[in-house]
Amino acid sequence: MLSDNIGREGSRLTFAGHDVTALAETYGTPLYLMDEGRIRRNCRMYLQAFRSSFGGDSLPLYASKAASFKQMYRIMAQEGMGVDTVSSGEIFTALSAGFPPERMVFHGNAKTDSDIRYAVSVGVGVFVVDNEEELLALNREAGQQGIKQKVLLRITPGIDPHTYDAVNTGMVDSKFGVAVETGQAKAFVAQAIGLENLLVRGVHCHVGSQVFEEDVFQRTVDIMVRFMAQIRDELGYTLRELNLGGGYGTRYLESEKEQDIPARIAEVAQRLREQCEKHAFPLPRVLMEPGRSIVADAGMTLYTVSSVKRIPGYKSYVAVDGGMTDNPRYALYGSRYTVYHAEKDGGTEAVFDLVGRCCESGDIIQPEVHLPENTCRGDHIAVCTTGAYNYSMASNYNRIPRPPVLMLTGEGEYLAVKRESLEDLCAFDL
Ligand SMILES: *Cc1c(COP(=O)(O)O)cnc(C)c1O
Repeated sequence: MLSDNIGREGSRLTFAGHDVTALAETYGTPLYLMDEGRIRRNCRMYLQAFRSSFGGDSLPLYASKAASFKQMYRIMAQEGMGVDTVSSGEIFTALSAGFPPERMVFHGNAKTDSDIRYAVSVGVGVFVVDNEEELLALNREAGQQGIKQKVLLRITPGIDPHTYDAVNTGMVDSKFGVAVETGQAKAFVAQAIGLENLLVRGVHCHVGSQVFEEDVFQRTVDIMVRFMAQIRDELGYTLRELNLGGGYGTRYLESEKEQDIPARIAEVAQRLREQCEKHAFPLPRVLMEPGRSIVADAGMTLYTVSSVKRIPGYKSYVAVDGGMTDNPRYALYGSRYTVYHAEKDGGTEAVFDLVGRCCESGDIIQPEVHLPENTCRGDHIAVCTTGAYNYSMASNYNRIPRPPVLMLTGEGEYLAVKRESLEDLCAFDL
């Protein structure tokens, strides 16, 4: 099985120790399952690795765009994580769950005046400022509200992490941040430290997502520490915090290797010490922002088969009661997934395209999956590793209600997000 929270008892698939067919029958499908124990375990893995590699003042921040709903912020608060937010909506959701605003970081390359006003007014701890216009707007707003806002400045280190283009964010021509290579980053820092209502704590970078190449973060550290030393030497200002962004990859297929994240973090810390020594720069406080690697393998989506279509000489389809509305990731960037039949195991298999119910040929959850030949209407299908960027990217295309999120624990299960009703779909129609 793909992950140790997935199993089989006889032919029945289990997730976090629960029989998934029974859950599908009780709660209906499509259904997002989340393994709460796995989310907490992933948080603790980061917290421990940070403490031992970067020291006690370091902090992992959960990039909450990966899966944003109130219960997720409660879990993060309980575990002692910080959180990243990227919109007033995420900030509001976190606050509604009682998440402390001073442990929030506010991201985004196109924050509006109202986003900035709202985030300053509720006391969001740190802004990661993306560009000059935002810098000036934030300085103005902080002045109006009579505070000195802590900020990090988003820097583009010019690193290609060799992942998919749509999730690469650290290259010089990125829409995010200000580039070191062009000299603009230095000017950006110089401008920021001159603004009276801002307190520049450090710099931020995020090179991409689904990063597996071992030295990506080390190369990033080289560039960032060199840049921080340059700022000290040329501007006489010491940047105390270094946020290295998110991006550690998660295993989606049995053929992919497992990533030892604590070992990777230890290597990054080692490189940071070397670089700081080389530039005689004081060790900065380190932050990172894992999203996917906190929640992806805690998720699974269950569907019910609507039809099986065989086109002799061409291909076969299994169509289910969800699709790109609950998981747009294959349609967006060709993401790979592992798919299991929930009740049938062994026997002859066939190759099917697993497709959704939307009126788009591109509504493919996963092409060429192996499922039992006798798969038929009414069977349940499980798509694994859907904890990140599924619920948070879901839509109501074709007026399909969004599925609920069911949390699984050692004792039982509970709804963290309820299923949208048909009435909910019309809630804003006048
Ligand atoms: C998306 C994002 C993250 C999280 O990335 P993952 O690949 O989910 O770990 C972290 N930081 C920033 C700035 C992001 O945009």
